[in-house]
Amino acid sequence: MDYILGSCMEHLEFVIDEFVDEVELAPNIVRVTEFTGDDQERPTRCLLCEKPVEFILFK
Ligand SMILES: [Zn+2]
Repeated sequence: MDYILGSCMEHLEFVIDEFVDEVELAPNIVRVTEFTGDDQERPTRCLLCEKPVEFILFK
């Protein structure tokens, strides 16, 4: 994965905005339970608030 961010339930919109600002593309979004990528790459804390990740945004 080239770029990956994590979001809690509350901050998905904020994290999407950060993602789009950074890579200028809409992210793929999956539930953390459905993430099939490398666990080493998977964020464990929300970008904004440090709560456990509920959504993974990636490209
Ligand atoms: Zn959050």
